[in-house]
Amino acid sequence: MDIGVVGAGIVGLTLARALSMADPASRVTVLEKEPGIGRHQTGHNSGVVHAGLYYQPGSLKAQLCSRGRGMMREYCSDKGIAFEEAGKLVVAVDAGEVPGLKEIERRATANGVPGLRWISPAEMAAIEPHVRGVAALHSPHTAVVDFRQVARAVAEDVRAAGGEVRFGAEVRGIRRIRGRVAVLAGGEVLSFDRLVICAGLQGDRVAVAAGDGADPRIVPFLGMYYRLVPERRNLVRGLIYPVPDARFPFLGVHLTRTVHGEVLVGPNAVLGLAREAYRATGMRVADVMSTLGWPGFYRLAGRDFRAGVHELIGAASRRRFLSAAQRYVPEIGDRDIDRAPLGVRAQAVDRAGRLVDDFALSELSDVIAVRNAPSPAATSSFAIAEYLTPKVLAGR
Ligand SMILES: Cc1cc2nc3c(=O)[nH]c(=O)nc-3n(C[C@H](O)[C@H](O)[C@H](O)COP(=O)(O)OP(=O)(O)OC[C@H]3O[C@@H](n4cnc5c(N)ncnc54)[C@H](O)[C@@H]3O)c2cc1C
Repeated sequence: MDIGVVGAGIVGLTLARALSMADPASRVTVLEKEPGIGRHQTGHNSGVVHAGLYYQPGSLKAQLCSRGRGMMREYCSDKGIAFEEAGKLVVAVDAGEVPGLKEIERRATANGVPGLRWISPAEMAAIEPHVRGVAALHSPHTAVVDFRQVARAVAEDVRAAGGEVRFGAEVRGIRRIRGRVAVLAGGEVLSFDRLVICAGLQGDRVAVAAGDGADPRIVPFLGMYYRLVPERRNLVRGLIYPVPDARFPFLGVHLTRTVHGEVLVGPNAVLGLAREAYRATGMRVADVMSTLGWPGFYRLAGRDFRAGVHELIGAASRRRFLSAAQRYVPEIGDRDIDRAPLGVRAQAVDRAGRLVDDFALSELSDVIAVRNAPSPAATSSFAIAEYLTPKVLAGR
């Protein structure tokens, strides 16, 4: 069977690997528009291997994050890729945040997060001496990894199994010709029995080109980061998170010690004016029109999100950003942070104006389109691949 996979992010690559392993007779080709691997979300994120604290029990996110974390750990151990169980604190800074923390504990317990404990301020101080708060949850097995490094190793596996990863192969058109899926990519027409779309920030556009519906649409949310200057990295030993605002599927500005030893501050969440631009002022007219042309965006903006949009715009300022981190690590000062590269989240918004919370895919007869794979999709990638593989091989 000839199988095409659009996108050499971590989701497309782990799927291509799983398909090559499940059916060695199949010929798998990954089509990537960029000149290398992981140039978008996979290469611009916090690098956190989530333990599954937040997700609605029973959801795909909850199931695949838990399974994916174990698979990621095993893969990194096999390949000698750094995987550090840095451990994570979710901190309630005052009594008003305790109910939110209790709700996370309820979900985390239902999701079977290993080793999770409710801890006192004294225990908190032993784990993270510079944190201030009234209570915290400690997840000792939350880890950090470099997802782009993982994606590169996975691409090597795909090649070793006889698959191909083609760069500069932007998918620009998809047609059905004589019962096969014909794909115009990189100036050539390629023909497949099955096509899987794992195109991240462009996932809705490629899916529509393959005959899928317009709902949901991708709306880009920038995640801006700062990082602690090297002399102040000692303020953070592992990962420190706030209690998130339940209105949004984003986790709030957090502190992350990466596998490379940096301490990231962020990301915030700001409505983006371009899907694939890595400057805060980046704008692409087609992307703005795509957001503004989506009825769901107005419903989202007009409802519970209204207060949130103001907050999100405010959150782009350095001062607001810093004060978010200072709430739970007060010693971080204005001179302690430098700007770091930002990321752009592919967040699906449905026609009714809801931010799609769970992972989502559509299945056509010969095409599967991943329609929503935001965080924790990098953590979950091996499990997402395992979940998709039988669907791809069976077709409909
Ligand atoms: C700021 C930020 C922080 C995050 N933090 C975490 C975290 O700590 N932990 C976690 O688990 N997840 C995190 N995530 C989410 C995670 O990065 C993504 O869920 C994951 O990388 C999605 O992978 P992907 O392969 O679907 O998308 P991508 O990595 O975006 O890959 C999609 C690929 O498709 C290609 N493509 C698009 N259109 C076409 C086309 N027409 N033709 C050919 N190729 C095409 C793109 O060039 C791209 O390479 C974060 C995301 C962001 C933005």
